[in-house]
Amino acid sequence: MAVFKLDNVEDLYEIGSVLGSGHFGQVREVRERATDVLWAGKFLKLKKGAGSRLGLERKSVEKEVEILQSLQHQNIMALKDVFESRAEVVLIVELIKGGELFDFIAEKENLTETEAIEFMKQILEGVRYMHQKTVAHFDLKPENIMLSDKHAPNPDIKIIDFGMAHRFIQGEEYKSLGGTPQYIAPEIINYEPLGTAADMWSIGVITYIFLSGLSPFQGETDEETLRNIVAMKYEFEPHCFSQTSNMAKDFIQKLLVKDQSERMTAEECLIHPWIKPLNRTQIAKRNRSSINMKNFKKFNARRKWKMSFNMVSACNRFCRLQLLCKARGPEQQELRDCESDQEDTGTKPASLLRRRLSSSS
Ligand code: ATP
Repeated sequence: MAVFKLDNVEDLYEIGSVLGSGHFGQVREVRERATDVLWAGKFLKLKKGAGSRLGLERKSVEKEVEILQSLQHQNIMALKDVFESRAEVVLIVELIKGGELFDFIAEKENLTETEAIEFMKQILEGVRYMHQKTVAHFDLKPENIMLSDKHAPNPDIKIIDFGMAHRFIQGEEYKSLGGTPQYIAPEIINYEPLGTAADMWSIGVITYIFLSGLSPFQGETDEETLRNIVAMKYEFEPHCFSQTSNMAKDFIQKLLVKDQSERMTAEECLIHPWIKPLNRTQIAKRNRSSINMKNFKKFNARRKWKMSFNMVSACNRFCRLQLLCKARGPEQQELRDCESDQEDTGTKPASLLRRRLSSSS
């Protein structure tokens, strides 16, 4: 079992304002007392006992920490230190000040594909690096792609939230049912053995949304979204993709491939002509094409609305659960909610509403 620092984090860091919240705790700005340097502290609540419904298994936090410790890349959030107490683990990580990439883009009037590609390239470089280290993220989505500093002339992409990540060991078969319906690969839904290719599917979905403001498989309910993914039911709606280059569509088509072994890898993406043009004609095509800004802004506004709606619902569920636990006493319940793309309709397919529940077989 990994041992984290047992010092009281508040002796070494002054705890500041809340930067964000996840399923298992808050992320706060923290100031290192010795140096005055600002960091972010990710406070993760631990399960109180085997029967507890609230909090994370320590094993799961150890996994996130071990993976973050092994990754050092400009486009991946860096881990500095880890503290633990009886009730929680605190990850001291690089402070990422620029907010989410999608929010930054949504503030712009227009964006050419060439400009968009500068961000895509950095995402791919971070992903290529982690895949080379045999780590898959398994939760790539707009919320987990942030910017170092939005006022910098060329802000760095930072990939965050390795709570669902997994390091593959040679010969091991790994299956998982976690993820966010809109972005998950068909092999996750089908509970098949997974590989790093599942992340490449998510990159295909993110690129599709980035260019058109449409989500390729989004249905009325999560079940419908999942059915659309398994059936590979997507198309490039002409009115949303009228400003998109054929190279960009080809890039997406080579990622939204059902067969994992046929899907482009991050390495291959970085040499696809859309990312790395071979001649002047291809450069000109990228410069002439642009992202569908009107639709993108609408998508982002809806996404933010749903996130705040989900947050309120999560708080309500949390309060109800606490009352229930008090009334009933501890229950055996190992499963955890995952993000749903839908409002709290009560129609979520059980198998895909789990986070950090995985199995190796
Ligand atoms: P989830 O339940 O969505 O998986 P989580 O508990 O694993 O979340 P994160 O996704 O890592 O937590 O962080 C929650 C939010 O906190 C992020 O969406 C982001 O807004 C903010 N955040 C996370 N890390 C940082 C950071 N290093 N700097 C600034 N803000 C951050």
